[in-house]
Parts: sequence; structure tokens; C-alpha cells
Amino acid sequence: MLEINAVERRFAGSSGVQGVSLTVWPGEVTCLLGPSGCGKSTTLRMIAGIERVDAGQISIAGQVVADARTDVPPEKRPVGMVFQDLALFPHMTIAQNVGFGLPRSGRGAAQIGHLLERVGLPGHADKYPHQLSGGEQQRIALIRALATQPRVMLLDEPFSSLDQRLRVEMRELALDLLREAGAAVVLVTHDPDEAMMMADRIAIMREGRILQEGAPLDLYHRPVDLAVAGFLSELN
Ligand code: ATP
Ligand code: MG
Repeated sequence: MLEINAVERRFAGSSGVQGVSLTVWPGEVTCLLGPSGCGKSTTLRMIAGIERVDAGQISIAGQVVADARTDVPPEKRPVGMVFQDLALFPHMTIAQNVGFGLPRSGRGAAQIGHLLERVGLPGHADKYPHQLSGGEQQRIALIRALATQPRVMLLDEPFSSLDQRLRVEMRELALDLLREAGAAVVLVTHDPDEAMMMADRIAIMREGRILQEGAPLDLYHRPVDLAVAGFLSELN
């Protein structure tokens, strides 16, 4: 379980993050939805450990990873990440990229081949990232992150650079893989359709705070204010 309790991050001249609390259970997807600059990515970066917290506490599977006295380094946190600018290692083959996340003992060609097959990309093992399309690279980034068997998966607008058809396909594939992995998932998106389709819970953020949190249909039927209603009315 991922528990975020009243975390804050202050930046000069910006709302930053001002006391965000969230609980995400294993196997559950929580979507952060909100306008540009409201603190979504900063929240994910604090969970990952690449941004410190100014106040509050983050724990994963019962272990405190961040608070006033604790700052577990990112590589020691059981967290996987897929961000929009996916960052596969360009000088490594696809097999090496995927193998990077696997324990030494499980780095065999068979295991990597199995993972590639799972995302419909068998036969791509010896290619380099630049030889793959954007959607193919996203699929590799996803299995590379999941290969480490993280307790928490963070996705920051992972599909926003893809065309509409591919985006819908990726949502389904990602949901299957994430459910199978049983990680607690936090997904940032600008796309209300994506949130409605993928989320067990949605948290609407504005100016560093969570304005409303709940099951997708709850928010849809009982928005706390016009801002929330406005977001959800963009649904196709
Ligand atoms: P977007 O939807 O555009 O990605 P976001 O919700 O992810 O927006 P954040 O990246 O979390 O927004 O940024 C929240 C606020 O904090 C913004 O006003 C941003 O300018 C500010 N901010 C983020 N990182 C820093 C930093 N390292 N230094 C100063 N200000 C920062
Ligand atoms: Mg962002």
C-alpha cells in the first residue's frame, strides 16, 4: 500500500504541493487529474524520491520512505516509473533495456522473450530504441518498469504523445499488465476519458491541493464544484 500523508513541497512563485494525502491499495489505480502546474508531477517525483518533501510523510508497504527525517534514495524505493519522455537507454538494445530491471538470475533470454511477447513485440530484442515507434517504446518502458516487481508504479502522462487509436490500445494493455503486477498505481493524465477508463479512484488537483477524490462515477455525478464538473464534462 502507498500512503501519502499531508506532503508539501514549496517553490518560490508557485503553489507547489500543499498538503496532499492519498492512499492507494495494491492492484488499484488512482488518477491525478488537473490543470497544468497544479502539482501532479511534483507529487509523483516526491513518491519516487527524486524530489524531497518539505513536510508530511510517504510510506510504501508500511515502510516510511520520506518525511522530515527520512529520505530513502530513489533506487532503494520499490517504485517503477513511466514518464512521457520515456527514457529508454538509447545505447542499449531492447533486451538489455528490459533486462536492466530484472534480477541478475532472471535476466535470461527466455524471460526477456516472454516479456516482449506479452506486449506483442517478439523479435525486437536486438533492436535499439530509435528503431522502434513511440508506442513500441512506451510498451518497452512499461515492461522494463514492471520487471523490477515494484510495489508502486508511477505513470506521468505515459500515452499523451501517441495517436488516439494507439492510446486506447495502450490503456487496455497497461491495465492488464498493472493488474497482473498488483502494484499500487498513480497515473497522471490530462485526459478525462483516460481517467474514467483506467481509474479506480480519481483525485482532482488544483493549485497544489486535492479538490475532490472519489470513484469515477461519484465525481461524475456529484462534483464538489464547477471546476470538477468542468473537467469531467470534457468527456467524449
Ligand atoms: P503539467 O500538467 O503541466 O505537467 P503539473 O501538475 O505536473 O503540470 P508540476 O510539474 O508538479 O505541475 O509543477 C507544479 C508547480 O511547481 C508549477 O507551478 C511549477 O512551475 C512548480 N515547480 C515544479 N518543479 C519546480 C522546481 N524544481 N523549481 C521551481 N518550481 C517548480
Ligand atoms: Mg506534469
